[in-house]
Amino acid sequence: MPENHLFDSLSAYAGRNPEKPFALRVGHEPRSFGQLFHNAQRFAAAITSAGFKPGDRLAAQVDKSLEAIELYLGVVAAGGVFLPLNPAYTASELAYFLSDASPSIVVCDPARENEIAPLCNKARLFTLGSDGSGTLTDALTDALLEPIARTADDLAAILYTSGTTGRSKGAMLSHDNLFSNSQTLTEYWHFSDSDVLIHALPIFHTHGLFVATNVALLSGATVHFQSGFSPDQIIEALPTSTSLMGVPTFYTRLLADPRLTPELTANMRLFISGSAPLLTDTHEQWQTRTGHRILERYGMTETNMNTSNPYNGARRAGTVGLPLPGVELRVVGAEGPLPQGEIGTLEVRGANVFKGYWQMPEKTAEELRPDGWFITGDLGIVDKQGYVSIVGRGKDLIITGGFNVYPKEIEALIDDIEGVKESAVIGVPHADFGEGIVAVIVPENERLTENNVNAVLATKLAKFKQPKKLLLLPELPRNTMGKVQKKALRETYANLFT
Ligand code: AMP
Repeated sequence: MPENHLFDSLSAYAGRNPEKPFALRVGHEPRSFGQLFHNAQRFAAAITSAGFKPGDRLAAQVDKSLEAIELYLGVVAAGGVFLPLNPAYTASELAYFLSDASPSIVVCDPARENEIAPLCNKARLFTLGSDGSGTLTDALTDALLEPIARTADDLAAILYTSGTTGRSKGAMLSHDNLFSNSQTLTEYWHFSDSDVLIHALPIFHTHGLFVATNVALLSGATVHFQSGFSPDQIIEALPTSTSLMGVPTFYTRLLADPRLTPELTANMRLFISGSAPLLTDTHEQWQTRTGHRILERYGMTETNMNTSNPYNGARRAGTVGLPLPGVELRVVGAEGPLPQGEIGTLEVRGANVFKGYWQMPEKTAEELRPDGWFITGDLGIVDKQGYVSIVGRGKDLIITGGFNVYPKEIEALIDDIEGVKESAVIGVPHADFGEGIVAVIVPENERLTENNVNAVLATKLAKFKQPKKLLLLPELPRNTMGKVQKKALRETYANLFT
């Protein structure tokens, strides 16, 4: 049989233990590992019959479902490239991704079929709803596709990251980028088939799609598969679970619930946090309330996971831990690598690092050095024991509720509104979301109102990107070079939400 690097690795456990439950869902029968991969091969056969070829992209803007996971695995089996998209993206945002990635198949929510059809160019459009029904599942037959041969360096996925210049970049991830990182994490975090993992993360992002899903598949862990983050569902699942992967917002929201106690979490062995900074305060409160020390790790779309606090050693609040096995990390300044203890840009190298940005060789060359070092854009420092702390972001990325938002994209839309002179979008501390988005706007005249701006943004931007607060000011602070001082704005409005 030809080898398909990622599919064969992820399905190895399922091959040995087809009856083992993979997913538990309230109100449904468990879905076994065997059923999951059987369905994946049916999806692979269905898309292949629809004309999908090895190397083609399949763009999926669908709600979280087990069928969406099967579709991801099916695309990999068919030798293709899976391209998940946030369901919150509007049609105008989607138009860019579809024209940039030129997928041969697009899969969308049944309710949005008419809206998305005109954006598909030559791609075939199918639907897949949150309950697993739609024209794509209708196209499934008993036919199974034998996995198409793919090598370690072939692409398995493209995940779009927001670009600092406003345009998203498609990070090309190979079979081995994904497999090697999930293998490293499985071992580092001691995952096995005795684990029950709470899976409440979205599956259009590296955290939920690759970290949580691939680790569970590889280790044989069962997941409590939840459609999204709900404190009630997590609290219900905790007594029968061993592990949770979440963004900091999960932890702050759970801390607000009086049901969170040591008894409730007595069966748990591991709480993991990542995708945005976990406040030391949250880490400490969690330990007081549950007796568990959250394990914080650091990664990004382009690199998978880079560092993690240790499983057995000290988990240090406010740090993202040590470079993972097989990942090299260095701190670099304007003149080159810096000695330990100095702040600079973090660079990483290893099998985890992506293959470059889809059809953007210049952007790739700017961020990925020829010798394999990737310039993360995060500013960090390494202490004497090797623990890495992230001290800021070179780029002005805002992370709100675990989602990345680049100010430039919002500023460009605001600046286009009639009556706006200019704008600056910043993130300031927010107890619930980590950072809350604030748009500082300089009006051209008195006719501009907050309602005007909000009405325009509501039609153009996904909800998570819409500012939580608009401030109308006579001017923006600038330095002598004429650059807007976002740092000063962030300081002035640091307590806006607290
Ligand atoms: P994404 O590509 O969406 O995964 O976002 C990656 C960015 O999230 C990184 O470049 C960091 O700026 C940030 N990030 C991820 N994990 C952490 C963490 N544990 N602490 C601080 N920032 C983080």
